[in-house]
Amino acid sequence: MSTFLGCIADDFTGATDLAGLLARSGAPVSLRIGIPTEPPNNTAPFEVIALKIRTSERDEAIEEALAAQRWLSRAGAQRFFWKYCSTFDSTASGNIGPVSEALMNATQADQTTYCPAFPENGRAIFMGNLFVGEQPLAESPMKDHPLTPMRDSNLMRLLAPQVSGNVGLVNRLAVARGAKTVRDSLDQLKAKKIRHVIMDAVADSDLSVIASACRHDPLITGGSAVAMPLPDLYAADGLLNWKDGMAQQNPPEAQTLVLSGSCSSMTNAQVSHYINLGAPSYKLDPLELADNGTKPVLEWLAAQNLSSAPLIYATADPESVKAVQKKLGTAAAGELVESVLAECAVVARDAGARRFIVAGGETSGAVTKALGVTTLDIGAEIAPGVPWTYCTSNGERLAITLKSGNFGTEEFFSYAPKILGQT
Ligand code: ADP
Repeated sequence: MSTFLGCIADDFTGATDLAGLLARSGAPVSLRIGIPTEPPNNTAPFEVIALKIRTSERDEAIEEALAAQRWLSRAGAQRFFWKYCSTFDSTASGNIGPVSEALMNATQADQTTYCPAFPENGRAIFMGNLFVGEQPLAESPMKDHPLTPMRDSNLMRLLAPQVSGNVGLVNRLAVARGAKTVRDSLDQLKAKKIRHVIMDAVADSDLSVIASACRHDPLITGGSAVAMPLPDLYAADGLLNWKDGMAQQNPPEAQTLVLSGSCSSMTNAQVSHYINLGAPSYKLDPLELADNGTKPVLEWLAAQNLSSAPLIYATADPESVKAVQKKLGTAAAGELVESVLAECAVVARDAGARRFIVAGGETSGAVTKALGVTTLDIGAEIAPGVPWTYCTSNGERLAITLKSGNFGTEEFFSYAPKILGQT
């Protein structure tokens, strides 16, 4: 099978989120961590390349996005999707706009659309203004983000300084009239040389209208939600038929390790809940690790029965994290914890673990890197934006789920294995 839609995501958990939503259709979806070094071979109809370019230097971001686009194009992609965060995370100069313009040139698109709306997660766009729940973006917690503080809620004003072409809007009144009106509005804007168009959307039905109107455009940009209707639209057009070529994934043995390096509030609740259920657990203390190394945790791991899905966690409340960061330094503490969790993953794999539940965006990056995983085939969804994935590590087929901080409900760790069942 060759690829039809090629997607480029500006960060890792955003790529997982997009891949999970595309896979809701039942279509085969593969996620590549970074630009693949091998030429494309037997790729999925939906391919997502996870980059880490949200806050990179602009030229570097463009170069990587173009290299990803070239690989996807060689894989057969005829349409492209540029995925960024549903809160339009970017600095005053980029990288959403500059990467869009570079991809427009590469895909010969003379216009593209921007729709970060994700109604299921409370992100809506009205008259070009982005809302997080009921708050305008610039009044939401995003205003204080350490890397990309969002101080304006108007997407046209945010995008204009990032691009050289003109910026316009297809507003909610047009979207409410349906796909034909949206298409006509886009064509009218194109005639006025408006190359960058913000799309209003407040509900999933708006996203279906937009996806339907834009499905033949060479390049669509946005959050993950506007891409969700695309597989079924392409299938209905007769452009794709994955039902014939769908490979059934057999879950590997229920030898499981849960690793948590996220300290976000939802992960704290998930860890407490799992321990309260009686799961075997080991708490990593970064200060003790710095002094005594990994021998104690590795000995504990070796003594575990992996069929009871033991948990190793560094997850801690904000006060303890601050205290550790003060002593070890923020970056050093983070790297220490990530490297220990990654080492535990490799040791567990060698001891027979075939399922991994990993909490934390950076932690997920460290664990997949240590396991030597570069391609993930997307499986069943556990929570919105968090699917099971399948990959190969050192010749072994693994199921792995990578959960970013605040995703999932409290029961996530005990619920995830139920989706795969016992084998
Ligand atoms: P999230 O998705 O919640 O942001 P990440 O894995 O991306 O989670 O980031 C959490 C960071 O905090 C990682 O770098 C991790 O190593 C670090 N960390 C985890 N536990 C602790 C701790 N107890 N003290 C200090 N840093 C920690």
